[in-house]
Amino acid sequence: MEFSVPHELTEDLERFKEFTKTHIKPQLPAWNQKKEIPPQFFCALGENGWYGLQFRDNQLVKGSALREAMLAEAAAKVSPGVAVAILAHIDLGLSGLYLFGSKDLQKQFGPPAVLGKTIMCLGNTEAIAGSDVAGIAMTVQRVDGGWLLNGAKAYVTNGDIADLAVVTAVSDPQASRNKRLSMYLVDLNAKGVSRKRLNKQVWIPSDLTRLQFKDVFVPKNQLLGKQGEGLQQVLTVFTHSRVPIAGLTLGTAVGAFELALEHAKKREIFGQKISDFQAKAFEIADFHAKIEAARLMLWKACWKVDNGEDFRQESSLAKYLAVEVAREVTAWAADIFGAASVILEHPIHKFPMDAWAASLGEGTQDVQKLIIFRELMKRYA
Ligand SMILES: Cc1cc2nc3c(=O)[nH]c(=O)nc-3n(C[C@H](O)[C@H](O)[C@H](O)COP(=O)(O)OP(=O)(O)OC[C@H]3O[C@@H](n4cnc5c(N)ncnc54)[C@H](O)[C@@H]3O)c2cc1C
Repeated sequence: MEFSVPHELTEDLERFKEFTKTHIKPQLPAWNQKKEIPPQFFCALGENGWYGLQFRDNQLVKGSALREAMLAEAAAKVSPGVAVAILAHIDLGLSGLYLFGSKDLQKQFGPPAVLGKTIMCLGNTEAIAGSDVAGIAMTVQRVDGGWLLNGAKAYVTNGDIADLAVVTAVSDPQASRNKRLSMYLVDLNAKGVSRKRLNKQVWIPSDLTRLQFKDVFVPKNQLLGKQGEGLQQVLTVFTHSRVPIAGLTLGTAVGAFELALEHAKKREIFGQKISDFQAKAFEIADFHAKIEAARLMLWKACWKVDNGEDFRQESSLAKYLAVEVAREVTAWAADIFGAASVILEHPIHKFPMDAWAASLGEGTQDVQKLIIFRELMKRYA
């Protein structure tokens, strides 16, 4: 088994770290204060090829999962909030177009999206249904030349800034749970769409927005995939996006861990450095071991994706373990800073909240356990 990272990927990662130093770090205080990421930033990512998706031979082509997971980790080390906005664009929005969009739709909407000139998001969760995806209520009604969408999506990352959304809706209320939903590509600047940005304290500076749809017309050709297959399709989008969000979550853990290590090596208490207390040294070793284990699981999931193997269980295992580690490590890291950690502007302050947020996106820990158990049982059937 080969554990070394290909040379070109290591080089790419170094270039991306440089990009975060010039394009994220200096701007972060202002973005955090305004709780806004400017659209130009999405263009800069696209121009530099950081989305990992290209429009080639008249269709969208996706790059390696390992590359994306490593970039997500690097971005989240600097800012989990910026990393999630990138992820929502690529892995929730663009991914729906990549996986289920016709060649014509990819041709029309793909090129500006891979350049970051249009920003994308995914609207699935409603006030009445999150984990229970099939329980959503948004309606879609057939009209001349397309559909009319009515209803609201409760929590949409990038909802405030996106131009295009992948949206699930009930296309056949009489059908079984598996056949009730369809998926659509919706222009968020269309008549009848309204947006309400929510006030949150996690994943700053990204936005979380409620999207309301009132008789929003969706042209016929903007059905994604097949009529009645919306449930399976959105679950497939999540199965894929769990891999990069595991990378993002790992980056959240590592970002906090490294800040705490730096502090522990400097700060003297009772005449010695925090890291010189054996109790703390053992905690540091323990968390390092857990971070390494979570990363190995993530890389295994990436390896399966990149080799065309079934990765349903591995993507949930990777996300589950990354969240467990991130929750523990970020809380510990905040402790290492003592009182300073409660100050809003302190760099460590946001990490525990961001680890909490990571436990919700792409399915809660309970949902991951359900998937892990279901996939495990298949082996013993
Ligand atoms: C910051 C943030 C960003 C988000 N971005 C998006 C986005 O871009 N697009 C989008 O569509 N959604 C988004 N979401 C919504 C997110 O996907 C949902 O919050 C998540 O799926 C959980 O759904 P829920 O909030 O309705 O909780 P519920 O489904 O109501 O779950 C409540 C509790 O019940 C538990 N539970 C649920 N089912 C089971 C079960 N079968 N067995 C045992 N326990 C169970 C859950 O683990 C949880 O603890 C976002 C959420 C947050 C917080």
